[in-house]
Amino acid sequence: MTKQWKFSGGLTLAAHKQVTVITNIPLPKELIYPLLQRADSYVQPIVRVGEHVLKGQIIATANNNLTPPVHATSSGTVTAIYPHLIAHPSGLSDDCIIIDTDGLDTAISESYHQPYQEVAATKLRELIHQAGIVGLGGASFPTAQKLRTTQPIHTLIINGAECEPHISCDASLMQQHAQQLIQGALILQTILAAERCIIAIEDNMPAAQQALATANQQAVVEITTVPAIYPTGGEKQLIQVLTGIKIPAQTLPAKYGFICQNVGTAYAVYQAIAQGQPLTERIITITGSGIQQPKNIRAKIGTPIKHLIAQCGGYTQDVQRLIMGGSMMGIALGSDDIAITKASNCILALTTSDLTDQQATLPCIRCGACADVCPVQLLPQQLYWHSRAGQTEQCQDYQLFDCIECGCCDIVCPSHIPLVQTFRASKGELIIKAQRSAQASLAKKRYTQQQLRKQKAEQAQQLKAAKRKAAIEKMKAASLAKRK
Ligand code: SF4
Ligand code: SF4
Repeated sequence: MTKQWKFSGGLTLAAHKQVTVITNIPLPKELIYPLLQRADSYVQPIVRVGEHVLKGQIIATANNNLTPPVHATSSGTVTAIYPHLIAHPSGLSDDCIIIDTDGLDTAISESYHQPYQEVAATKLRELIHQAGIVGLGGASFPTAQKLRTTQPIHTLIINGAECEPHISCDASLMQQHAQQLIQGALILQTILAAERCIIAIEDNMPAAQQALATANQQAVVEITTVPAIYPTGGEKQLIQVLTGIKIPAQTLPAKYGFICQNVGTAYAVYQAIAQGQPLTERIITITGSGIQQPKNIRAKIGTPIKHLIAQCGGYTQDVQRLIMGGSMMGIALGSDDIAITKASNCILALTTSDLTDQQATLPCIRCGACADVCPVQLLPQQLYWHSRAGQTEQCQDYQLFDCIECGCCDIVCPSHIPLVQTFRASKGELIIKAQRSAQASLAKKRYTQQQLRKQKAEQAQQLKAAKRKAAIEKMKAASLAKRK
């Protein structure tokens, strides 16, 4: 095995990844597509209520070339475009396109199938954008945008280090689609003209490792295992483990010649370029002690969570909480009448006994355990004190925005302080403050410009009046002179 390094902090967590096969499920009756795609990036519908659509048809686009289009993931009729609950920490509703499926799953004809070696990198990036591909590891960053880097890239890392303890969708994908994801990796490597392509998987995934080794007999890519220490799946942590290079906070790995893509993204790129299929489905883990039969499901994007839960035999009687994402970084959901998005890699249902482990919050004892495990070497206790005191500016001095919200500090805190929750709230406050201050400075700029325009107009008028007065005086003087 090639030399590896360690990142500071991190935790070894008990894995709950028993599920390895991918289950195909019947079509849901309804598919739901939020117009809010990521953070504040929206798409606009290009279909009307009552219109019949086919699988793979574009139904919404953005007015920029950053956010990729949204495709119908099955055939059916658009029944509404209206506010519906979405998977967002706010728990609020937002505009969604609703499609009633017709049960036929009829797809539009494939339009851009061609050997990738014959296609220019610019065209391949455009095809990836048009196929609606975003990072499937959870962050959902537009893949084509990541590939448009102007930095020279020497190493492409395909991230199979699925470090969240309950998520196993990537392990299933690697086992079942090893050949295709290697092809996807090669397409990405071609686009980036990268010298190296490394597929990194955790050392507790022997079946995935075997499947990849079998598919890689020609050694077209490097396959390596990394220790299952959480959060190795974070791209900066993974780069550090594989190369020893520590990418500074607020810096993109591309600046150092690295691009990371999730294994699911590489597979989606293969489907788009080699098979002409846009991104209409993803593998998702439905698990936790609140689920009767945990499964990894091949799910259409837009499927309501309640449909996925039903395919797993439903909930157990003592289910208490639903989380989208893993136990470490996921967000709590208030309902299962919410659709999965491209970013949804896991639905975790927790029971009463899972939650009784949670104890009351006690005062901080300054033990420093949170700082010891922080993978980005922050001081979580300092951040917490400033957050609690509403001193958000001081939080910035302690690099609040470098926090990757991995949750390691929460886990080890003997006082059970909800550190990450507090950090998220402070980040939210600071973002709102920054937006307000940007709006205020824009308004001030507008006001100053208005005043300047007004001043100039007044000056011009005064000048005009002065000129007229001078002309009149001149005329008067001339007529007086004549009379004399
Ligand atoms: S681990 Fe908890 S108790 Fe210890 S210093 Fe950090 S916040 Fe305080
Ligand atoms: S959640 Fe943030 S502060 Fe806490 S350990 Fe992770 S990166 Fe550090």
